[in-house]
Amino acid sequence: MSADAPVLDVRDLVKEFPIRSGLFGRTTATVKAVSGVTFSVLPGRTLGLVGESGCGKTTTGRLILRLLVATSGSVEFRGENVFSMNRSELRELRRKMQIVFQDPYASLNPRMTVGSIVGEPMHIHGLNRGKEIAKVKDLMQIVGLNPEHVNRFPHEFSGGQRQRIGIARALSVDPELLVLDEPVSALDVSIQAGVVNLLEDLQDELGLAYLFIAHDLSVVRHICDDVAVMYLGKIVEIGEADNVYERPQHPYTQALLSAVPIPDPRRERARTRIILEGDVPSPVRPPSGCRFRTRCWKAQPVCAEQEPLLEVRSAQHPAACHFAGDAPVGLGTTPAVG
Ligand code: ATP
Repeated sequence: MSADAPVLDVRDLVKEFPIRSGLFGRTTATVKAVSGVTFSVLPGRTLGLVGESGCGKTTTGRLILRLLVATSGSVEFRGENVFSMNRSELRELRRKMQIVFQDPYASLNPRMTVGSIVGEPMHIHGLNRGKEIAKVKDLMQIVGLNPEHVNRFPHEFSGGQRQRIGIARALSVDPELLVLDEPVSALDVSIQAGVVNLLEDLQDELGLAYLFIAHDLSVVRHICDDVAVMYLGKIVEIGEADNVYERPQHPYTQALLSAVPIPDPRRERARTRIILEGDVPSPVRPPSGCRFRTRCWKAQPVCAEQEPLLEVRSAQHPAACHFAGDAPVGLGTTPAVG
């Protein structure tokens, strides 16, 4: 396999959760959480998977790690089909592909010391036998924690430090890919940058690939090489981050970007926002045609009739919109209609 072949290749991934009710637990409806998602993560690169709460980002991450069983589609890790792996192959996969969770407090066992938390995956995988403590201390140093605090408990650390513990734990088994599920969303803005910088440094040093899940395009701006924007179970726009941020083509991406503050005060004063009206529709009964149409100011009758394909139309990268095109000047001069 060539050196720049994808680390992770996700094709047409679908996850439907049955909703059961009644005495016999019959399936009465299905939640269409992920509806045909395709993307790749290249070695040493970061793909940002971005979208509002409930659009299917976490489910996608869990399907990739086989923490959930997919309804259909495929996931390949380094060319190997993840869904057909046996137990020992899956065990090895779980070493190479680690996950860092959003809430560093909930995801760390409060009764374990940092040393045990960081060392546990090594123990499970039988790595660094006899040298665990030394490796744990090295990892603590690498992520910016004091190795002398190895016997402390999670509550003795701040939120940002706890997330560093989660990252050290993930790194302890020398993974190739990290699935970062909103790793900074629970942290204060002032702390977020430090953790994102740490992730960037680790990527440069260790050549890691990241799937960085976030609900906010601004968080992933500096770390992403590529970005995929999800809405109600589907990717609506995907491409190199510079292209997507500079020339967003889908009205949803434009709306998300219009909410991002601009650091230049003059441009910030002139910034206009696209306010999306209404809530995200239920994934049990997504709208016909384009799923975004009920909140889109560009919507026309065709949008209810035909699902737009994710294809290159108006810029260099694909967007799933019949009317894909550059944003209005200043982003969002046109108000959304319900
Ligand atoms: P958040 O940022 O809030 O975690 P998300 O984009 O990660 O949102 P998911 O958590 O993947 O979204 O959820 C996608 C949809 O699937 C949501 O409507 C959610 O309620 C639904 N869902 C997730 N897990 C289940 C489940 N086990 N059973 C039924 N529905 C589920």
